[in-house]
Amino acid sequence: MASAPSHPRPRRKLLVIGLDGVPPEILFDRLRPKMPNVAAMLDAGVRGPMRTTDPPISLPAWAVMFTGYDPGTLGFYGFRHRLNHSYSQTYVPRTTLLEVPTLFTLLSERGRRVGVIGMPPGFPPPRVNGFYISDFLTPPESRETTYPVELRGELESKFGTYRFDVPFRAEERGALFRQIVEMTRQRWQVAEALYTREAWDLFAVHEIGTDRLHHAFWKYIDPAHEKYVAGNEFEHVEDDYFAQLDQWIGRLVSHIDADTLVAIVSDHGMMPMRGCFCINQWLAEKGYLSFRRPPDRPGTPLEKAEVDWSRTRVWGSGGYYARLFFNVRGREPEGIVPPEEVPAVRAQLERDLSTLRGPDGGPLPVRILDPKTLYRQLNGDPPDLMVYFDDLKWRSAGTLGYPTHYLEENDTGPDDAVHGVDGIFVLYDPSVVDGRTVERVDAVDVMPTLLYAAGEAIPPEVQGTPVREAVPRARESGNA
Ligand SMILES: [Zn+2]
Repeated sequence: MASAPSHPRPRRKLLVIGLDGVPPEILFDRLRPKMPNVAAMLDAGVRGPMRTTDPPISLPAWAVMFTGYDPGTLGFYGFRHRLNHSYSQTYVPRTTLLEVPTLFTLLSERGRRVGVIGMPPGFPPPRVNGFYISDFLTPPESRETTYPVELRGELESKFGTYRFDVPFRAEERGALFRQIVEMTRQRWQVAEALYTREAWDLFAVHEIGTDRLHHAFWKYIDPAHEKYVAGNEFEHVEDDYFAQLDQWIGRLVSHIDADTLVAIVSDHGMMPMRGCFCINQWLAEKGYLSFRRPPDRPGTPLEKAEVDWSRTRVWGSGGYYARLFFNVRGREPEGIVPPEEVPAVRAQLERDLSTLRGPDGGPLPVRILDPKTLYRQLNGDPPDLMVYFDDLKWRSAGTLGYPTHYLEENDTGPDDAVHGVDGIFVLYDPSVVDGRTVERVDAVDVMPTLLYAAGEAIPPEVQGTPVREAVPRARESGNA
């Protein structure tokens, strides 16, 4: 547990820059020469990989980073959650489901001035002592996208319709790239205009364009991707985008005073997607899942298939990882597995999963996670089991009707990347030169570390602890 330092650190202001889906090797090495403003902060600050959450998905990751609680305690297991053990009703978590304070609401309660742009979860926008613009998960057509509500009209009159996200699983990549650039430009123009209005104690901006660019263009930019072709027309989109982003970051950071610490954080990394493993087809083949009539149209969602629940013991859903559910008697609407038999079904399932083969006949490594033992608490609507295929290089496809269990392309639209476990943690103090690298900062430790760095008390009940070596300090003279 966090204990108060004997000499409280002086209170500092914070500027938090959240870049979605950026692995350390990109910002720290590959694109560093294209990003002089970020490079200067890396040189003087402290940097390290930020180990993301299980599962490595934006939501829960951002929520964990800015609350200091694990995904199970928050009840955030990904984007879609099934509602109350139903077979087909789902929901995406909203800020109203958060039962603990975020960095932003906590400092608001302490009377600090707080401005937030798009930090997830951000819809509906929480009431803070300042403003909050909702995030990329804002439902289309929503009117309530800013707190206070008047801010929305003010922004629209100055900057046009605000873009929360882009439809990134699109075939037409050229148009998509322009949309991502346009969205990012607008966001940072808004950020600069709002940041320079007053001396914020805490100001945060989240950029989703980085994640979208990577998902949509990974096969064009990463030579490690199986479909990469040298010299392709989109080979330089990442260089171009991040060079522009660096200019926007540089403009924002040019307004900080010597009292302000800058954090640059990313929620997870990126790596090439190998393909999708059709979890429900495999469960059907193994006899866990039954249909009254097997789906024959490729891409049929499980919700549209004629599932015979009276003969189904296990089913799954797709995404970066497979969520598996047992059809438990007394729990699911048409549950058949007696609760006392769940452990036996689960043991058999784990044995079957451990023998999985990839498309080339070699073993397909599988990691099985049990939310009950993974997290300190289990709230909300957790899956019964979580399964990673080949360290997440294979996605899980929940759809049905294919002649094979292995899909080359994502079943929910073009996508070339999956999430890696390392995001980014950078902390820069304009008044000192440090330049160290720290081994790692865990997602759950981000908020306590920022509170510690800013001289703010850490609520004793948070699960994370401050990583003190991640806070910049002046180097001894003569120490290179
Ligand atoms: Zn993300």
